[in-house]
Amino acid sequence: MKSHTVGQAVVIGSGLGGLAAAVRLRAAEWRVTVLEALDQPGGRARVFHRDGFTFDAGPTVITAPHLIAELFELVGRDPRDYFSLVPVDPFYRIHFDDGSTFDYTGNEERLLAQIARFEPRDVDGYRRLARLAERIFETGFTQLADKPFHRLSDMLRVLPAMLRLQSWRSVHGLVARHIRDPRLRQALTFEPLLVGGDPFRSPAIYLLIHWLERKWGVHFALGGTTSIVHALVRLLEELGVDIRLGTPVEEIVVERGRAVAVRTSCGERVPAALVVSNADPSFVYTRLIGAEHRARHTDRAVSRVRQSMSLFVGYFGARRTWPTLAHHTILLGPRYRGLLDDVFRRGVLADDFSLYLHAPTRTDPSLAPPGCETLYVLSPVPNTRARIDWEREGEPYFARIRDALERRLLPGLGGALATSFQLTPVDFERTLRSADGAAFGPEPLLTQSAWFRYHNRSPDVQGLYFVGAGTHPGGGVPGVLCSAKVLDRLVPRAAVA
Ligand SMILES: Cc1cc2nc3c(=O)[nH]c(=O)nc-3n(C[C@H](O)[C@H](O)[C@H](O)COP(=O)(O)OP(=O)(O)OC[C@H]3O[C@@H](n4cnc5c(N)ncnc54)[C@H](O)[C@@H]3O)c2cc1C
Repeated sequence: MKSHTVGQAVVIGSGLGGLAAAVRLRAAEWRVTVLEALDQPGGRARVFHRDGFTFDAGPTVITAPHLIAELFELVGRDPRDYFSLVPVDPFYRIHFDDGSTFDYTGNEERLLAQIARFEPRDVDGYRRLARLAERIFETGFTQLADKPFHRLSDMLRVLPAMLRLQSWRSVHGLVARHIRDPRLRQALTFEPLLVGGDPFRSPAIYLLIHWLERKWGVHFALGGTTSIVHALVRLLEELGVDIRLGTPVEEIVVERGRAVAVRTSCGERVPAALVVSNADPSFVYTRLIGAEHRARHTDRAVSRVRQSMSLFVGYFGARRTWPTLAHHTILLGPRYRGLLDDVFRRGVLADDFSLYLHAPTRTDPSLAPPGCETLYVLSPVPNTRARIDWEREGEPYFARIRDALERRLLPGLGGALATSFQLTPVDFERTLRSADGAAFGPEPLLTQSAWFRYHNRSPDVQGLYFVGAGTHPGGGVPGVLCSAKVLDRLVPRAAVA
């Protein structure tokens, strides 16, 4: 890297997408300042420390690990000097409401043996489905995820392939054509939920997540996902990037249609030749950019975007361990489609739930005091458009979830609690500044994917770019890392900008 750099870039937000964008901009010789509203980096991937327990706030399932490693390699570093990943097996242990369990693993032989246990005729169905998932992955991930999608021609180019791959069907619709057993249908369709999608409405293209997990595995970062955030921050500091925490941006200053600076909450104007926003695009367009500069993203257009579901996340530490617990557990309730309809369509906080339980101390005991277990439980819930009073509902909801966990999975939990706290959709809205308290940006529908999603290059304001879950390709750690990769094709090197 040259010792002198030309051009100042500002990155708004230090989520994984923002940190990855900062590395890529620095590698292209921009001077980079990252402005983060919160008092720690990572966004959804920040960390909470309570009573000796370490809780990753959000992402725990690390897939496509090369997307993280390549950020270090890009600037001549060995990622092994910065963080360590270990494979997790099974990927997920799924507990069905009838008491049966299914270990979703990357080992095809074990996977097929379990499928045969549920429904022997589904073994061939799964083989067909897996081949299809691989083809969808080759188009949807390999060819599209890290390419810009801001021209209609980009969309038209891929349309024939998407039609061939039956993208008009939903993930559930496609899986149900190959799999008979209702429990296996659930096990093979919950993955869109990982990026905020309803399996009954997310287009079949999201079946690529299945192949992405099969191909590269599911991993956990020793020390927690926060160790990846800290590795990226360390790298950026070594590269001379200025990361300013506790610095919310309140305005993107636009002159003659071009972003020229940002203004922070204390009134400071930070000049920029280039602004990359990792903040939610719905929030950025309506709250940070004057209406006179937005021909396309008017307040009305933004209000029509359908935001994804939100999440209730309960964190708790226990003064004991459950040695047979899997690292990642999916605990399914009595209803599947009905519950998803409550969350995504009806905006109802249901009495039943389907849960994801994270038990990182199964892999890395250092995340809790000796003999203790760190846990977090996540329940998909309606976003804040549903107007649920979380101030009132939050604690009783968490208590119901803990009861269910104690009954089905964690005997003795009630008497072993050492610490507990929660995040609700209100925290996503207020703390992370996400429209409607959505956990994953706009819902991944066909009409909100690729060209239809917020573009990585703003059509309204020159010199403004987006990375992160709200823009193409979408939510999830691989998605936001790919969104930063798209920048490589859109942003010139600083010297020629
Ligand atoms: C509970 C939970 C669990 C998840 N689990 C997984 C998982 O296991 N695997 C997976 O792949 N994905 C998972 N996801 C999804 C994944 O975490 C997210 O899609 C991804 O981390 C989002 O990254 P991002 O780049 O969009 O930035 P975000 O994490 O959304 O960060 C954006 C940052 O911008 C900052 N910001 C916003 N506005 C401003 C402003 N005006 N000025 C300055 N800063 C601002 C925010 O404070 C925040 O730090 C999970 C998500 C959640 C919520």
